[in-house]
Amino acid sequence: MEIRAVEIEGEALCPCGSEKPYKDCCVREGRTFGLIEYEGKRILFDVDETEQQIEELVRFCSENVLNLVHDQGAPIDKEKALRDLRTIYELTDKALEPFVRGSSCEKGCNACCYLIVDSAAIEAEMVRRYMEEHFDEEERLHVLKKIKEAKRHYPDSVSMDGEFPDALVEKHFALNTPCPFLSSEGLCTIYEVRPINCRKHVVFSDPMQCKKMAATASYEAEYFLQVELALNCLSVLVYPKFNYNRHFPDWFVKEFDL
Ligand code: SF4
Ligand code: SF4
Ligand SMILES: [Zn+2]
Repeated sequence: MEIRAVEIEGEALCPCGSEKPYKDCCVREGRTFGLIEYEGKRILFDVDETEQQIEELVRFCSENVLNLVHDQGAPIDKEKALRDLRTIYELTDKALEPFVRGSSCEKGCNACCYLIVDSAAIEAEMVRRYMEEHFDEEERLHVLKKIKEAKRHYPDSVSMDGEFPDALVEKHFALNTPCPFLSSEGLCTIYEVRPINCRKHVVFSDPMQCKKMAATASYEAEYFLQVELALNCLSVLVYPKFNYNRHFPDWFVKEFDL
């Protein structure tokens, strides 16, 4: 996917989404916009602002997580790790915001929730806590039941490098089994704390492509590697024995025994 810088004409609608002409809104000296064009879709973003957000995210990952691994490599406090994880999520969402705004992804669109999604242990722990706070006993048991039912269809799905083999991905999709956290109305019940892999899946092509598991045009960025590495290190620092990613619902099979 090609990303290139463009100049915005004064009369054009401002890319900030205000629906005002650019000349009456965000126009200022030296401001550059990036543009992704895909099948008639034009996704404009403020290059400087986006770069700043990405820098902040990458810096946070280095200073708070990756440097820790080099400095001590010993287990760290779980509460601090959960706070750091939340910050990583928030900074990721900010960096992705303009792309999400211009994407095909919207509330209620959920074919991607039928894919196999992996997560680190610390991410599952955040979801476990969220469920404790926001789900009543009945809802919690309902999700657990769905997890156990779905689990019958596939063996323990462990991934050392965050990638599952294609055959497993295809087999899982063919089962037409939604993520146990998807509600009957088609919404994510843990949206606020969903794993990084759900957050960074931003697609510009027709959602029908997702439904068919056909090739999609998705946002890809090199800094994701750094973020994923930091997140996995954070998880391993808290849970040294879980040095791998798992199919996300798998973490909950044994009654939240993290
Ligand atoms: S990834 Fe595809 S299915 Fe998921 S929200 Fe975006 S367009 Fe819809
Ligand atoms: S956690 Fe939420 S967003 Fe992610 S696959 Fe499950 S239902 Fe979809
Ligand atoms: Zn504006």
